[in-house]
Amino acid sequence: MKKQEIPYKIYLEESELPKAWYNLRADMKNKPAPLLDPATHRKMQAKDLAGVFCDELIRQELDEDTAYFPIPEPILNFYKMYRPAPLVRAYCLEEKLQTPAKIYYKFEGNNTSGSHKLNSAIAQAYYAKEQGLKGVTTETGAGQWGTALSMACAYFGLDCKVYMVKVSYEQKPFRREVMRTYGASVTPSPSMETEVGRKILAEHPGTGGSLGCAISEAVEKASNTEGYRYVLGSVLNQVMLHQSIIGLETKAAMDKYGVKPDVIIGCAGGGSNLGGLIAPFMGEKVRGEADYRFIAVEPSSCPSFTRGKYVYDYCDTGMICPLAKMYTLGSNFIPAPSHSGGLRYHGMNSTLSQLYDDGLMEAVSVKQTEVFAAAEQFARVEGILPAPESSHAIKVAIDEALKCKETGEEKTILFGLTGTGYFDMMSYEKFHDGKMNDYVPTEEELAKGLEKLPQI
Ligand SMILES: *Cc1c(COP(=O)(O)O)cnc(C)c1O
Repeated sequence: MKKQEIPYKIYLEESELPKAWYNLRADMKNKPAPLLDPATHRKMQAKDLAGVFCDELIRQELDEDTAYFPIPEPILNFYKMYRPAPLVRAYCLEEKLQTPAKIYYKFEGNNTSGSHKLNSAIAQAYYAKEQGLKGVTTETGAGQWGTALSMACAYFGLDCKVYMVKVSYEQKPFRREVMRTYGASVTPSPSMETEVGRKILAEHPGTGGSLGCAISEAVEKASNTEGYRYVLGSVLNQVMLHQSIIGLETKAAMDKYGVKPDVIIGCAGGGSNLGGLIAPFMGEKVRGEADYRFIAVEPSSCPSFTRGKYVYDYCDTGMICPLAKMYTLGSNFIPAPSHSGGLRYHGMNSTLSQLYDDGLMEAVSVKQTEVFAAAEQFARVEGILPAPESSHAIKVAIDEALKCKETGEEKTILFGLTGTGYFDMMSYEKFHDGKMNDYVPTEEELAKGLEKLPQI
């Protein structure tokens, strides 16, 4: 197809929108390892999880055989307010780079939460409401997930209690205010409200908190409050299932114009956007129908795939959540303060971990100053001000496009642009003022993080 025939933005008609989520695990030969009970190390059953998670979400989490889950009507209707997300042909970036490569990105920043997280938040809130629950608890680091969940809970009339990592709470007051606008209650973590919070504060007075610690508080609160459950914005397979909407829309739009990507790139924090974007393409690959290159991009300050271990680990600092087999830096690992809050998790989704271990996907780590340089380059030609997390994918997409310039190959590159960076201007400021550093953990620091691995 001639270049001009592909529009800058490929939209789908309402009638072309996906009506079911795709569960990649159903087509994988090597399934991800099951969740284990942190105390007994036995395989988790639905009943073991029922006190903490919503029933339907547990069913989705444990189901590795059903390929398609129909999306309930109320969720489809909510999606219609901000989806389809545009699939953009980055003509301007291609021109600027003088590359023969064809670059596409799927933009998920077109909603108030500013990221893809709303895709799963609305699903999780819906199932909580259907179960007759009163409210949900969660943690948030950078704030995108807390915002998305607040929006979703407001829509379905649920209480929303967010434990926000204390440093973010203090550094990002506007994020907090957006959540409160949507009716959520926001508590800086660690707090005196929970046993685990009080314990952490006694051991580490003055700590700025961490994601693992906020998770522990949110789980504790949900399990001892009547009518509440805990919900999580990444890492779990149910979240990746909901995020498959990203990949399904992308594939439908590309198929419409006969475009097939050669390489698909996404940033990886807990793995939900990457897993969602690649799902239908990886499905074709594991079924032997087509081949693609997949690249996970992570910060060199928190390199779960590229320097972590593939073992069972705790998902939280308090060690109360189920154990997952994943690429991990250890629940003891404390990443250096970085400007990509959404990528600071020590572990990785178990499905992506298995795919990576099977050699079906590649991973690279990149330094933050090069990420911000790419973000700025992108913003200046494509207009969108990207989130620092998303910019990890931009950086590697640009690198791939420049390789094509050298070799003259006309590859088609697709990447996930997960969100906007309006709440990250302090980080952009540090970059502009030359005050941003490129911290890379030493081998000793990594070894220390892995000290408290469970013995399985
Ligand atoms: C949370 C977040 C991420 C990383 O989370 P994943 O679960 O790995 O997708 C990436 N980009 C943005 C904008 C985010 O908010």
